[in-house]
Amino acid sequence: MAIEIKEYVGHEFVTVNQNTTDLKNLSESNVQTYIDDDSLMVEIESIHSRITRNNTYYSPECLKQSVPYWTNPYERPVIMHHNERDGQIIGRIKAVEYKESGTRSGTPALIFTANVGDEEGKKGIKNGTLSTVSIGVIAHDLRCSICGTNLAEEGMCEHEKGEVYDNKLCYWIINKMEPKEVSYVIVPSDIYAHNIRVYDAVKKTKSEVKEKVEYNPFTELAESIKNTLSTDLEEGKDTQEGKQVDEEVKDGEKTTEPVEPETKEPETEQPESKDNEGESKEDNQSEEEKDSEDNKSEEEEASKEEVEDSKEDEESKKVLKEKDAKIRF
Ligand SMILES: [Zn+2]
Repeated sequence: MAIEIKEYVGHEFVTVNQNTTDLKNLSESNVQTYIDDDSLMVEIESIHSRITRNNTYYSPECLKQSVPYWTNPYERPVIMHHNERDGQIIGRIKAVEYKESGTRSGTPALIFTANVGDEEGKKGIKNGTLSTVSIGVIAHDLRCSICGTNLAEEGMCEHEKGEVYDNKLCYWIINKMEPKEVSYVIVPSDIYAHNIRVYDAVKKTKSEVKEKVEYNPFTELAESIKNTLSTDLEEGKDTQEGKQVDEEVKDGEKTTEPVEPETKEPETEQPESKDNEGESKEDNQSEEEKDSEDNKSEEEEASKEEVEDSKEDEESKKVLKEKDAKIRF
């Protein structure tokens, strides 16, 4: 007995009659496969050791032990929405790595290197519409977190996963599993199960691909880019630009007090001109003696001069004006 699990939200867990498969050669598949030049390689953090939205939890040991099974005795397919009956295979898992730390979730995870040859699949992965995944596995050792019953062997206990008993969440601990496939899904149960790197394939044997995974210099870079992006999202673009302008003005004038920007002018792209900093410095100094009407006309004058001097076009005049307006606060 075993329980079939698919890590997308909405999956109905079913008991299946399947015994554990014993593999003779766990370290290396003897199937030599080649990768087509026109295909796509995609690295995926496919499952993490943390409680999922399905209230399942894969122990780190379970993830580690499953590694050879993903490519042995055959490379497990990459499909769509777990449609393993009449759906299309879009690719194959070429290599699997167990990663203890430095993952998207910060917890142990399995990293797949998949090769995708299907045209629609390549398109979706490249444009990002195919990005979240869910693994399909058969669990042979699956325990209730409350009472420890092996549900795959002994059948259901009195507890229901997702319910709370004496302030303890009931979830299923998966200690042994056999892989079936990995699917691109709309709502993944593991919220961190996501593509992490996409690149064009070059003709390589499987062992060469594995090597590439082991010495991947891009993992750190990808992580730092990701962190930068998430910081930008948190702080907001406006705040970031406001900060930058603030610093520019401070550098130019060597003011001691940091000043908060108060202007409500719409933000546009900043021209990166040294002249501009000089202009805004002058404007800023004269600002206190004048009301906002005067400021506006002076702004226009300053911008006009600037434009005449530099022979800028109409559009850049507008941008310069707005930059002045923004720096004056
Ligand atoms: Zn139980």
